[in-house]
This record gives sequence, C-alpha cells and structure tokens, in this order.
Amino acid sequence: MIQFAVRTNSRFEMLDITRQVRDLLKESKIKSGICHVFVPHTTAAVTINENADPDVGRDIIMGLDRLVPLNGNYRHREGNAAAHIKSSLIGVSEAIIIENGDLILGTWQSIFFCEFDGPRSRKVFVKLIPTE
Ligand code: ZN
Repeated sequence: MIQFAVRTNSRFEMLDITRQVRDLLKESKIKSGICHVFVPHTTAAVTINENADPDVGRDIIMGLDRLVPLNGNYRHREGNAAAHIKSSLIGVSEAIIIENGDLILGTWQSIFFCEFDGPRSRKVFVKLIPTE
C-alpha cells in the first residue's frame, strides 16, 4: 500500500489527483492490473468525473449542497453531519483498470479527491494489484 498527502484549501473542493496516482503507477512498473484508490476519511470522498471544464466540479459541489444542505436538522454534535452524508453518498474508494502500464480513464475523466469539510491535511491510499 502506498499513500500520499493532499492539502485542501477550502471547505468544499474537488482536487484532481490523477497525476499523483499515475506517477505511483509508473514507479511500480505494473503493466496490467487494478488500481484501488481509498480515502481514509469520513468527511471526504473520491470520485471520477470530468476534468476539462472546472464548472463540472463546482456544479457537483453545488448539487450535493442542494441534496444535503449544510444546516439541517442533524443530531451529530460535531456540526459536520452534511459532510459525513456526502462522503457516504460519493464513496471513499474507486477501482481503475490498469492496461499497458497506464490507468484506463476516458479522455475527459480524472480522479478527484472530494473535500467536504476542509481546509484540512488529508491522505490518499493507493493499492496497485498486478493481474499478470
Ligand atoms: Zn463529524
């Protein structure tokens, strides 16, 4: 298992981490397999979505905020119940196919670390599983 650190700068953020994951894969020299990305946090998530238009990330954040407003009738005393709910909605892991030593992602796809309760120092765990 490999890990790297990310630093988020605002309360909500979609941070493109594709390059960091690709660099780890390149170092591993694995040609075929599965890349598992896991976020060990309860108020963050990981997703794959469009990288070309930054408004897509902003719209995802806005759309999630409409679904799960910051202030609701929540019981969680820490005051960040919305962030916990968003983390569970989006999920904390992604599995990406590795072929010819690269991640199989669509032209417009990137891997995004989703911050729902920043700014914070966060971690991303990556497990590269060769299948050759
Ligand atoms: Zn909490």
